[in-house]
Amino acid sequence: MAASSTSEPTVRVARFLDRTVAEGPGVRTAVWVQGCSIRCPGCFNPHLFTTRGGTPVGADELVARIVAAGTDGVTLLGGEPFDQAAGLAVVASGVRRAGLTVMTFSGYGYADLLDRAGAGDRPVAALLEATDLLVAGPFRQDLLDHARPWAGSTNQEFVHLTDRLRDVSAPDRLEVTVTSSGDVALNGWADPETLDALLDGLPVRRAR
Ligand code: SF4
Repeated sequence: MAASSTSEPTVRVARFLDRTVAEGPGVRTAVWVQGCSIRCPGCFNPHLFTTRGGTPVGADELVARIVAAGTDGVTLLGGEPFDQAAGLAVVASGVRRAGLTVMTFSGYGYADLLDRAGAGDRPVAALLEATDLLVAGPFRQDLLDHARPWAGSTNQEFVHLTDRLRDVSAPDRLEVTVTSSGDVALNGWADPETLDALLDGLPVRRAR
């Protein structure tokens, strides 16, 4: 992906996955953003805390890539999507205009996001407005969620902001991707013990 040279908003992208069935309802495109100011203890993606990594991508280019993937919609995760709300609001609304759905993860609670939106934080309000399903709340390693799909801990809240993406009954899945260069990357969800057993001795890059 090339960095944008215009004044359009950009998003610092850590990983782009064209197709996945492990990051929300149906077949989805997933975008992991780089940078998280929340830094939950036990987070599976500590390499995404810093804002120094990743690649800046123009919002319009990101929309085009998501639409070209031909999936049901996009899942925005990270890193913290609401730390890049201005760029991602443009991405999410563009994806929605193309008739696709938007699922957004956040380590912020829904009430906090609503407060920020109500206090005039327009990017936060716009990203909430362009999201169909929000999974909100920090990861709590003492409250591991073994029942619901996609949620890491039981305190996290599924907020249906529209009538789309109502079905959240899928099982948790773990996906393994092997690239042509031999890199192995994981995404999806499994409890830490299962992950450790699976990854023992493998040169794996975790994405969530
Ligand atoms: S779980 Fe999410 S919100 Fe928490 S530190 Fe990790 S990326 Fe940030």
